[in-house]
Amino acid sequence: MQELPLQLVTQMIADRRTIHKRPELGWTEFETTYFIAKRLEKLQIEFQLGGDFLDRASVHGRDEQEVQTAIQRALEHGVPKTFIKKTQGYTGVAGIFDTGRPGPTIAIRADIDAVPVQESQDEAHESVMGGYCSEIPMVMHSCGHDAHTAILLAVAEWIVENQDNLCGKFKFVFQPSEEGVRGGLAVANGGFLDDADVLLCFHIGTKCKLGEVGIC
Ligand SMILES: [Zn+2]
Repeated sequence: MQELPLQLVTQMIADRRTIHKRPELGWTEFETTYFIAKRLEKLQIEFQLGGDFLDRASVHGRDEQEVQTAIQRALEHGVPKTFIKKTQGYTGVAGIFDTGRPGPTIAIRADIDAVPVQESQDEAHESVMGGYCSEIPMVMHSCGHDAHTAILLAVAEWIVENQDNLCGKFKFVFQPSEEGVRGGLAVANGGFLDDADVLLCFHIGTKCKLGEVGIC
């Protein structure tokens, strides 16, 4: 088993902390979507944004007022207006990378939304000590989707770097609004995954020890 390069691990930790600082509730993940899109662009991975790959008729639990408030916050935090326009008001990113060699289409999915929880401000709290505590009151990545997003970005980078040893196509789904089981149907019915031979999903948890992976 090849070890991950240290640079990729370091970046994954930094990405997770950046995302942790700016948590966004389901259907309002505009800053997170921008962060992901910028990285995929840098990796030269083709991608679509929520407005293009989600089936809007299958979008549930999306509050237009919450969306507008989030767009405003994203604009104030440096997300360009042109980018917001490209999302058409729908968050999430779907990337595709073709190795150019025949083989299966492997899709990997991570969720990107946070939950309505106030993060502890205790000075002994890990993210307070590390300087990456949530900046958004009453919103926190307490379900770990910040880690999922960072992991999938690292996987995408690893695939690009190791493309000469790989075959087939890879699809990367950064799914909005997992909480409340709201976003999955819109992704599924949007058709982006229809040609996938395999769909891999994952969630971090506390039942495995460091270095272990549980499969179900
Ligand atoms: Zn979760």
